[in-house]
Amino acid sequence: MSVELSIAEDQSCTGTSHWRDLHDRVMMPNYAPLNMVPAHGQGSWLWDDAGNRYLDFAGGIAVSALGHANPELVEALTSQARKLWHVSNILTNQPALELASKLIDATFADRVFFANSGSEANEAALKLARRVAQDRYAEDKHEILAFENAFHGRTFFTVSVGGQSKYSQGFGPNPAGISHLPYNHSQAAVDWFDKHGDRTCAVILEPCQGEGGVTPATKEFVDTLRACCDRYNALLIFDEVQTGMGRSGALYLHEKLDVIPDILTTAKALGCGFPVSAALTTDKVAEHLAVGTHGSTFGGNPMACAVASKVVDIINTPEMLSNVDQRSKQLVSGLEDISQRYRLFTEIRGTGLLLGCVLMEQHMEKARDLMTLCNESGLLTLVAGPNVLRLAPPLNISESEVAEGLARMDEAASRFAKSVEPS
Ligand SMILES: *Cc1c(COP(=O)(O)O)cnc(C)c1O
Repeated sequence: MSVELSIAEDQSCTGTSHWRDLHDRVMMPNYAPLNMVPAHGQGSWLWDDAGNRYLDFAGGIAVSALGHANPELVEALTSQARKLWHVSNILTNQPALELASKLIDATFADRVFFANSGSEANEAALKLARRVAQDRYAEDKHEILAFENAFHGRTFFTVSVGGQSKYSQGFGPNPAGISHLPYNHSQAAVDWFDKHGDRTCAVILEPCQGEGGVTPATKEFVDTLRACCDRYNALLIFDEVQTGMGRSGALYLHEKLDVIPDILTTAKALGCGFPVSAALTTDKVAEHLAVGTHGSTFGGNPMACAVASKVVDIINTPEMLSNVDQRSKQLVSGLEDISQRYRLFTEIRGTGLLLGCVLMEQHMEKARDLMTLCNESGLLTLVAGPNVLRLAPPLNISESEVAEGLARMDEAASRFAKSVEPS
């Protein structure tokens, strides 16, 4: 099959609809992208192919944490690209070792496994937890406890561990030994462990649920899970794919919660858009991932690791993390003001620069409409479910850019309020 790629000379169109139409003809239909077609980006800004400029509070779904075309990251990538692209796992990979050392220095972890995506990091974490329990305890200690509305990725194992059945059903029999409880419900977890603790190998959670609605875990909840895991020899896995790498104002959110997981997964902002992910753990846990038990052709690719090394250097500084806290406060107070004036949100929640604006009862299911209006006002945003508008601006965003984003949000909110006014 061939596809007509050229745009006819006499077509005065911007190309936007051409590319968007082409998407619908050549791509499998699992995505439904917005109409705007990005052409290039710089810092917190993105331009479409018609030359319109957008302030980017979506960041490629909490990925582009240092904005677009960051010069230091471009330099890290291109200088590695001129040296060595790929080595495979039968050879030692210098950029991967550098990145691993930095992550170990910066966290509780002693050991690192690299992969390419959040799903794969979680896949590795879950397989490792199952292997640890099997090696140390018993074959039937394989139960995984996860939570409703959780999102852990799209491989068949991780999507089954995720807590949204609409994503995991319809693909034949799911992997066994996975249960879901309500999030932030400590008593339910305690009761569950009373019954199933001996057979449980791991608990996995996002310390602030991202896709599921930007819902932070309570300190009491994570403390309870930590205690249950200790008591029943289960591993506590923190999926910090979205909350990690400075997004919360700490390098990892577990630090703010003052709880140390046994395994932590990190991806999204780790490469700021270059695919790379990692599962981090302690020596004692890592030892069960013996030679040959797991692997990845591209995981820890030298270019990915060169970029991520630079990302860690830039993000893991007091200046950057305090900018996250300050811009977060500025954004929350501006959003609360907008919310009051247009009666939009019941609460602004989340952590650092991962914020969810929860729509009031009368606006239920309208998060996507509000997002579209924001886009039309030149502000890219996200949703997290049908009722939550999600914001994930770059961590290095400036005070004036946040102010500009709030002005654009104000314009969108005003049009949203008008559109829902009873006539
Ligand atoms: C995005 C995300 C994933 C999946 O990451 P991919 O890179 O898409 O595989 C897993 N967990 C969380 C918390 C995420 O936000």
